[in-house]
Amino acid sequence: MTGSTAILGSTGSIGTQAIEVAQMHGIRVTALAANTRVDELVKQARTLHPELLCIADESRYPALKEAAAGLGCRLLAGTDGLCEIAQHESTETLLNSVVGMVGLKPTLAAIAAKKPIALANKETLVTGGTLVTETALLSGSHILPVDSEHSAIFQCIQSQSADVMAPLTPDYTGRETRRIILTASGGPFRGLSKRELARVKAADALKHPNWSMGNKVTIDSATMMNKGLEVIEACHLFNVTPDKIEIVVHRESIVHSAVEFEDGAVVAQLGTPDMKVPIAYALSYPDRMETGVKRLDLFSLGTLHFERPDTETFRCLPLAIEAFRKGGTYPVILNAANEVLVGRFLAGEIRLPDIADGVERAMEKWGRNDRILSLDDVLVVDELVRKEL
Ligand code: MG
Repeated sequence: MTGSTAILGSTGSIGTQAIEVAQMHGIRVTALAANTRVDELVKQARTLHPELLCIADESRYPALKEAAAGLGCRLLAGTDGLCEIAQHESTETLLNSVVGMVGLKPTLAAIAAKKPIALANKETLVTGGTLVTETALLSGSHILPVDSEHSAIFQCIQSQSADVMAPLTPDYTGRETRRIILTASGGPFRGLSKRELARVKAADALKHPNWSMGNKVTIDSATMMNKGLEVIEACHLFNVTPDKIEIVVHRESIVHSAVEFEDGAVVAQLGTPDMKVPIAYALSYPDRMETGVKRLDLFSLGTLHFERPDTETFRCLPLAIEAFRKGGTYPVILNAANEVLVGRFLAGEIRLPDIADGVERAMEKWGRNDRILSLDDVLVVDELVRKEL
């Protein structure tokens, strides 16, 4: 179990729940970073007394300086600030729960400093891909998944053998798994036709029944891009190809994912949908700790449902798989286009199906099979898409 943690994205959904878990177990919080919400960040700092405090949006730095005066924290700003936290001597475990591709640099910084990472930023693996996995393998820095499905898969694989180490360690090969069953809630628009999907508003999408999440993840969940990003994330984390991953829509979100082994045995991880479980597991690994979550009651559930995803209507899912298969710059383009288009949908400028259309066009226009060799390769492609789309 970790004795302390630094939290990037501390005012978000994962960040605030991580703070609750940390407080429950006396895990010291040594650093906090938020994107824009200065007041909430400073409020957290008053209770937790971190050494470092960072605001990612540099234009908010003067506001942070004023609000945090007298707190005794060292104040940082921007991506450089996030990276400084990632590498700081006081950082024992880095919880990276920032949203979007801005999370990639701090992850790479933590890997370089050989810090264990509790990773809730899926864009890190989607855009960084083998650049992240290969540097993590070289440095020996453990990446522990916080995404509920990937935490479930990790727990299932671990149940196979006490020796199975964290993903992305030299002992871990992915050979143990015959099939990964990746569950999906289907989002709030499961069952809608293409035409109905074109009429939904951002406010309809933001009412997700099972999980409480930030806006970006909620829209990704509504288009099923979230599941697409998760397939890419799983391929990198568990060293498998998409043909080994079966996506199953399971509206109750009780089975968080499952793994099938050689002998036909399928091991699943179940529980009430609550992010505190995967957060706690990443912080307590290889042990477990109390989370205070509502206990699973199978009698009150009675029945669980499973169905195939509708990939004709929810095209972001097959597009993400295609991006992974093509490799090169495709996943970076997919992610950047999606981030831009989700922003436009939230602003009421485009319709929901326009996200898949725009992502597809961006991949056709800019996609190349060039190997991504450095962070700069990622950033160049990412910037191009953001500017030109
Ligand atoms: Mg998830």
